[in-house]
Amino acid sequence: MLLVNWRENTHKTMKILIHVIFNPGEANEETTNMVLAELGITEYEHESVVTGMYSLVLEKGDERIQKLIDELNSFENSPILREERIYTKIETDSAELLVLYIKALCGDGYNVYGTEFDKSSVCPVCGSGEVQKSDLIINKFEMGNKDIAVAYSFEIVISEKLAKILSENNLTGLELRPVRHYTTRMKNEPNLFQIIPTCTLPPLASPPSRLVKAKEYCKTCGKSGLFIDPPFYYQKEDLSKVKVCDFDKTTEFFGIKLTRGIPRQAVIISQKVYQILKKNKIRNIRGEPVHLI
Ligand SMILES: [Zn+2]
Repeated sequence: MLLVNWRENTHKTMKILIHVIFNPGEANEETTNMVLAELGITEYEHESVVTGMYSLVLEKGDERIQKLIDELNSFENSPILREERIYTKIETDSAELLVLYIKALCGDGYNVYGTEFDKSSVCPVCGSGEVQKSDLIINKFEMGNKDIAVAYSFEIVISEKLAKILSENNLTGLELRPVRHYTTRMKNEPNLFQIIPTCTLPPLASPPSRLVKAKEYCKTCGKSGLFIDPPFYYQKEDLSKVKVCDFDKTTEFFGIKLTRGIPRQAVIISQKVYQILKKNKIRNIRGEPVHLI
């Protein structure tokens, strides 16, 4: 299992990792393994039986990336390359705004336990646009002792401890809503809350933000089938015209509308929130600097 270091790196400059994902086909597996060995690439994932996919991570600038691509190009499927930026501590600690990524899950979301949604203004084509009506209902056991986690459709659930910390800091742009357990057991304890960001930022500057439309992209509402290849860029001028809060959401919705999933707006936090989360050692989160241009 390859582990990507999500924490801040100690390099003096931002590090860019290149994820190389490819499927050489079953007949070429042996050759591929030889090529990887010759290049000295020992850490990679290979789902041999299931999909035949290989994935590995190298640092940008590593000459072996091109050599590997050259070798792989002789096979049918060309590799997919994805960049990942690892920012320095100085960069994350000085960014005015950061994209909030939450790595922990607290189980399946609304549809399993009956959270109610208002569907009166959903898109007639893709069905996106439902608005949460009732409190979020989850299986609280799945939260364990985590301070922050996301439910299936990226509803942000936090512990009572974190809710108290956020409330004490007079932050703007968030509403805390109680989270309920799906049965009458654990009616109150533990008290969990959902963070509802209430401020919306203007559209991202794109380009340079790379917005990717999947084949499922809904042309009617634009809320389903959109993805972003980070980083996030905003025009300073656009932000100067709106109220930027401590918790904000993007105008854009990301993800694909599925029976169980709802495309979500990304959550952007202020440096103040980032420092509060860090100071209180809240785990399972990552803040990625937003680029202001
Ligand atoms: Zn739609």
